[in-house]
Amino acid sequence: MKITFSSQRHQQLLRLVFLGCLVLLFHHDVHAESNRSTRFHDNYSSSLDVSSASSKIELAHEFGRLHFPPKSQFGGSTVIQPRSTRVALVSDPTSKKRHPNQLELAPEGTFSIVIIPDTQRYQGSGTKGAANDSSMVTNPIFEKWTDWIAANIKQQRIKFVSHVGDIVDVNHPAQWSIAKGCMDKLHGRVPYGISVGNHDMTGDGNSSLYQKFFPKAHFERFSWYGGCFENPNGSQSISGNNSNSLQLFEAGGMKFIYLHLECNAPDNVLHWANSTLEHYRDRRALITTHMGLGPRDKPTQPQDYFDAPKGRMLWTKRHGDRGNSPQQMWDKCFKLHPNLFMVCCGDQSRTQAMRQESIGEHGNPIHELLSDYGEGGIRVMRFIPSSNRIEVRTYDPLSQSLCESTSIVKDRDQHQFSIPYVMKPD
Ligand SMILES: [Zn+2]
Repeated sequence: MKITFSSQRHQQLLRLVFLGCLVLLFHHDVHAESNRSTRFHDNYSSSLDVSSASSKIELAHEFGRLHFPPKSQFGGSTVIQPRSTRVALVSDPTSKKRHPNQLELAPEGTFSIVIIPDTQRYQGSGTKGAANDSSMVTNPIFEKWTDWIAANIKQQRIKFVSHVGDIVDVNHPAQWSIAKGCMDKLHGRVPYGISVGNHDMTGDGNSSLYQKFFPKAHFERFSWYGGCFENPNGSQSISGNNSNSLQLFEAGGMKFIYLHLECNAPDNVLHWANSTLEHYRDRRALITTHMGLGPRDKPTQPQDYFDAPKGRMLWTKRHGDRGNSPQQMWDKCFKLHPNLFMVCCGDQSRTQAMRQESIGEHGNPIHELLSDYGEGGIRVMRFIPSSNRIEVRTYDPLSQSLCESTSIVKDRDQHQFSIPYVMKPD
């Protein structure tokens, strides 16, 4: 009896000690995992960042769920196998878990329009501040952005891509060649348009290098390409040959027209834009033009770019006296059209993110959206017809994360927000 009792006590003690060790091991493993902020890639190449508290809980739960049971018998206790469990979590192809900071897949019934802000992060010979650099010109950030867009056309249900301009930093063939290579990743895969920025032309508005690399002939084979301003009374190098273009596409049972207008488009371009928007008045209209929101008055000192009162800008950079400021473009064109609901712009990296809702002459709300994040990311605008809203997401394909805050614009609501827009099938 004594021996049996002792043996039972011994077994119970052994079980308790063993369980205690397992709890300690498990605890250590979860925290070691969390502290490393490891990214777990799922089948969509997105990632689950386990650095936040919520993810720690989620990960601990995942471990718990998978560990009890599998069992193996040793003195009647459950044996935990953390290593194999971690592998199972990493490679689970059915995992839909996403960190709140990740971009969700586009659900059925929604679609996305992607905005590419200024892409001026060129490196190598001839780039700004690189007078002695003889290495080849590259733009790895631009490359990765269009790589990501091309790879996510299906998952994000991308129906259109718009580049806000300043596609190059220095108006030189070497940079244009790189830019064309980047945009070619989208060519033939998704409709897209480009607004010619101030860096993409000369002071008097000559955009002949842009026209060499992105002429109308490059797009005419596509059914979605609607043509461009031809400048019949002047040189094509000013405003012509796809420097101001229109695209037509359908999504969510709705028909859209997208206009891409050059920076400070002169009056003759705006007359063409007016007649084009009038001609396609049965379509919902968007415009991208390079300059839009930023310091209202032309800055006189560097700090003004950050601190001066902001809104629709009253000054110009290109086309000399012929150039129209963003405010003039609004007055002469944008506000006149009842079908226009959105104007996107870039150019102002020191304002970075800004938006305002304005009312057109016909009472239609027009959302004006600035994004210029430098290397910080692109915008994915998710149209959700069932709830009449557009979810705007600022997303960095390099870090695979949503923008929460920047040193210039702290508020998350300026980077991740929702805007109302009534959508019903046309
Ligand atoms: Zn610019």
